[in-house]
Order: sequence, then C-alpha cells, then structure tokens
Amino acid sequence: ARKRLLKLKKTPAVTRDGTAIKLMANIELPDDCPHALDAGATGIGLFRSEFLFMGRGAPGLTVPDEDEQFEQYRRAVVAMKGRPVTIRTLDVGADKPLDPTEHTALNPALGLRAIRYCLAEPQLFLTQLRAILRASAFGKVRILFPMLAHAFEIDQTLGMLEQAKAQLREQNIKYDLALEVGAMIEIPAAALALPMFVRRMDFLSIGTNDLIQYTLAIDRVDYEVAHLYDPLHPAILQLIGMTIAAGQKAGIDVAVCGEMAGDTKLTRLLLGMGLREFSMHPAQLLSVKQEILNADLSLIAPLMRRIMRSMEPGDILEAVEQLQLM
Ligand code: PEP
Ligand code: MG
Repeated sequence: ARKRLLKLKKTPAVTRDGTAIKLMANIELPDDCPHALDAGATGIGLFRSEFLFMGRGAPGLTVPDEDEQFEQYRRAVVAMKGRPVTIRTLDVGADKPLDPTEHTALNPALGLRAIRYCLAEPQLFLTQLRAILRASAFGKVRILFPMLAHAFEIDQTLGMLEQAKAQLREQNIKYDLALEVGAMIEIPAAALALPMFVRRMDFLSIGTNDLIQYTLAIDRVDYEVAHLYDPLHPAILQLIGMTIAAGQKAGIDVAVCGEMAGDTKLTRLLLGMGLREFSMHPAQLLSVKQEILNADLSLIAPLMRRIMRSMEPGDILEAVEQLQLM
C-alpha cells in the first residue's frame, strides 16, 4: 500500500471533478524539508519556528541570534526550491515552554504565549522578523502569526514587521517586497470576528489543535479530558466553515494546518466545506492526496448541507461516515 502511495508523489492533487487542491507540509526544522519534498508537498504550510528555540541543551533561556535564525530559514527556503515556505513566528508558552525551568502561570494556555509573548519581547520579535525577512530574498517566504485575537494585536504585529523592514532598508539588506502575511485562526474569538482579519491579512491558516482546545475548553495535552477533544463537535465545524467562507468571500487563501488536515477520515468533510489548502505532517500527505483523487465535490455537496445544518453529533458522525463511502 505504501508503494502504491509513493507512486502518487508527482500526481497533481485534483478531485475527480477537477478541483485542484494545495497539499503543503508542516515542519519543525529545515532538516524536515527533504521529507516534505519526498511526499510531493507543494510547499511548507507551517514551519513551527519555535523548534529552533527549544531544547538547545543549556538550562534556561537560550535564543538563536539573528544570523543563526536567518541561516536556518534560508536553508528551508533553498531546500524547497521556489515552493512557498510559510514561517510561523515564535509560538512558545503553554505546551511549548521556551524556558521549562520558569513556570509561573496557572493557566499557561491562556497566558503570555505565542504572539502575546512576542509583543511583550519586542527585541526578540524584531530579531526574528528581520531573520525571516532576510530569508525572503532567497525564495518564496510567507509569514504566519499565531494566536492573534485582537485588532490592536494585529496592528501592533504588522507595525513591528514594518519596523523590521525599515531596519533592513537602513542597512541596505534585501527582502521580498511582496512578502505575504497571514494569521492563524486558532482562538474562537478570531473565527467569530473574521472581518477584522481579512482586511488586514493576505491569507489565513486555521490551527484546529488550539481552536478545538479553546472552543471546547479542554487542555490539549491533558489526557484526563482527551475524550472530550472532538473535531466534529458542531461548534468546531461552524467555526471552520465560517473561516473558509470568509476567506472565499474576501478572495484570500485559507488553509488548515492543525491535525485535522492530515486525518483522512476528515478530508472529504474539509473539501466539502470549501477547503482548498491543507498542511500536515509529511507522513500523512500522500494518504490525504489519495482521498482527494477519489473525492467528487458534486457528490459531497448535498451531504455537506446536512452536516453544516446539524447540531446533532450522531447525525454529523453518520453523515461524515457516509462521505467516506462516496
Ligand atoms: C494548531 O494549533 O492547530 C497548530 C497548527 O499549531 P500548534 O499545534 O503548533 O499549536
Ligand atoms: Mg496552535
């Protein structure tokens, strides 16, 4: 079966009825790029840059400097040979502590993490932004910001990006003037206030891992509540559906980069919701492609109306299972 899948590497991801789908890879380090290419990824949809900052051996806080970061981002960009590389800015805190020896917040998932941390540490953030911008001169880079919820956070973040660009211009350092910026939609408030995002952003990427955690109020790393973690909860489907629809309406790309994107049981559901860009662990990519090649959007559509109108988990589950048989 693995062999049959490998044959799909170069096959374009197109549904039976002719809709092209972008299949991108999630990576943690530049060394993961060959795996992304082996799986036939059309780009990197999520480079979790925090992995450059984590587990650096020394106890406490050690941070890669601008040149070291630049070199790592550039390596990924060059390895992907012109395909887009979406670099997410530092998403630390909660399940990914930058300094495991320092732990004070009672609710780290609700605390100073991700973009909140970066906005509170402007020098650290500017350093990363400059490093990413410098890498953008070597290929197609997109910047993705995690955990945005407030309009002022978006504005402050974009202001910092402008500041980083100005600093590079002052030093005559090149970067891609057409660099696209995107927001993770992973806090329910963001999915419920999409106009705030679409007018300020070039693309969106739905982080279903956190979106589920925050919508259902269950800690994603607490096994005692793991049975409550349900991607098919009607509230989750509504939030995802709204985000995809808002992107379509505004003419900007929307991806899913959480675990849902790599779950073949959910591929047809996401296609039916209008999703055209999936980003996942490279190991899942060819199986998802297989699902796409076998899917027919016109057959999926009638069941989708039933799913998206339903507030009954039993109905939803039954319809999602039917989707897989089509
Ligand atoms: C997510 O939240 O779905 C996501 C893709 O980001 P992470 O898992 O790194 O929080
Ligand atoms: Mg997340």
